[in-house]
Amino acid sequence: MKVELYKATDQHANMPDYKTAKDNFSWEEIEKEFSWYESGKVNMAYEAIDKHVDEGHGDKIALHYKLDDDIQSFTFKEMKENSNKAANLLKNAGVKKGDRVFIFMARSPELYFALLGALKIGAIVGPLFEAFMEKAVRDRMENSDASTIVTTPELLPRVPVDELPHLENVIVSGDDVDEKYISYKKEFEKASTEFDIEWLDKEDGLILHYTSGSTGQPKGVLHAQYAMVQQYISGKYVLDLKEDDVYWCTADPGWVTGTSYGIFAPWLNRATNVIVGGRFSPESWYGALEELKVTVWYSAPTAFRMLMGSSDNVVEKYDLSALRHVLSVGEPLNPEVVKWGMEVFNLRIHDTWWMTETGAHMIVNFPSMDIKGGSMGKPLPGVEATIIDDQGNELPPNRMGNLAMKSGWPAMMREIYKNKPKYDSYFIGDWYISGDSAYMDEDGYFWFQGRVDDVIMTAGERVGPFEIESKLVEHEAVQEAGVIGKPDPVRGEIVKAFIALRDGYEPTDELKEEIRVFVKNGLAAHAAPREIEFKDSLPKTRSGKIMRRVLKAWELDLPAGDLSSMDDD
Ligand code: ATP
Ligand code: MG
Repeated sequence: MKVELYKATDQHANMPDYKTAKDNFSWEEIEKEFSWYESGKVNMAYEAIDKHVDEGHGDKIALHYKLDDDIQSFTFKEMKENSNKAANLLKNAGVKKGDRVFIFMARSPELYFALLGALKIGAIVGPLFEAFMEKAVRDRMENSDASTIVTTPELLPRVPVDELPHLENVIVSGDDVDEKYISYKKEFEKASTEFDIEWLDKEDGLILHYTSGSTGQPKGVLHAQYAMVQQYISGKYVLDLKEDDVYWCTADPGWVTGTSYGIFAPWLNRATNVIVGGRFSPESWYGALEELKVTVWYSAPTAFRMLMGSSDNVVEKYDLSALRHVLSVGEPLNPEVVKWGMEVFNLRIHDTWWMTETGAHMIVNFPSMDIKGGSMGKPLPGVEATIIDDQGNELPPNRMGNLAMKSGWPAMMREIYKNKPKYDSYFIGDWYISGDSAYMDEDGYFWFQGRVDDVIMTAGERVGPFEIESKLVEHEAVQEAGVIGKPDPVRGEIVKAFIALRDGYEPTDELKEEIRVFVKNGLAAHAAPREIEFKDSLPKTRSGKIMRRVLKAWELDLPAGDLSSMDDD
């Protein structure tokens, strides 16, 4: 397939070039930038918030929170005081270092105060996405023996408060809280703005994130305080965060992107962080970019595809001239989306690849690097990545295999909660195996092919679903596509595509044939889907990822497995 090359521009001229950054890189040099380098005693909430106050930046805006037409803004000093209040509230309730504190709230300033407050105590935070239903909440809180939950009156009915033996504190925001529970509002008002931070070891726990559940049951991934070293430097190098940036990461803190890059990376770099509440619409998102003069924007392919699918001239109504840097994560970024980004923003969309388990960026399109449309880029300086076969042998360029990294980067998970065998299954020798299939080209760029389990074997050829899906979304009628291998007695598997059409297109047999020919001529005959099925929408996780295992289960009439994180709106 023809690769589009997007040259680096002078927009990022003051960024180190990739080779220089990589050649001179040492994690220890980065550690020296932290106040704990000498003392060894650390707390993420201090580094992200209080330190900036101590260093004379207390009046700088840390957070703009936008909900519909309303914007509330908080300085670093106000964030420090409010998180101290939340820390006192939690401490008074009996929360201690190491306890698991779950936060189950829609995005609001209170969510961020509570999360930072829990960190100040040395508790391990377990964020839950607001759209989770009871089963998802129960599974996660049971698995982690959570002692405390902070929630809202709207979400409280989804917390099985009487059935969780380890649960001691139920803290509820809003007015008129039942006496059985602790009132966030009342206790917060009473609480002191002073708090003595709990100093921790850099290997102490920070956050417990459950994975998205795209491939199976979500796993409890525990990260350590030390992750901050990588979150900080990737915020600086990859997000290119500077003193006067206004930065918006669209992910919810229920997912790892919403904490590593929605909380930690921006505040470790002292940027102004934007949080937008409410639901997605092209108008509300473009409106937020315009009104808050967002300069750096981090979002996901599913959101970009929805913006692409909205009528063309919506974007023209907004002044997005402040925007200077756009990034993507969560799913493969189709070349067609990068092309669209150039057309509407006149900016390159920088893909970044990483996982809940890796805690921070691993493979990235460094700002000063040329981008090959459809490639996830090159390893973050300090990260060693390669492609290996199932026995752990490194493969030469252009051979598809397991995307793997040398263990030991700072933000690597420390545990799969209460599941040592699962943790151990990630490794072959020193190599961490991602579960994704990819190849590296002769220039060292990595190309995602699909989840290892999703790779299709058809007539002796290994085909990655991503390339086919990317070709499919190039067709004008296709909004989204999910491709699976369907067992076939002759070919092993055949390529089957599930397609959601753009508004205005009719699901006809002629259109199926047209799309098939489009892939055949544009990609390869063996990659053209032998079967196409139109759907109103594709099954997705609540974080917006297409669930191919559900497509496969539909196809084969099998049980679809754990659906607690599936979006069923
Ligand atoms: P589960 O592990 O529970 O099945 P999940 O893998 O979707 O869920 P996450 O940790 O949120 O949970 O997602 C990481 C995965 O997302 C990666 O392994 C990869 O498959 C996909 N991914 C993330 N970023 C990219 C990217 N830039 N390009 C391609 N795939 C990506
Ligand atoms: Mg995963």
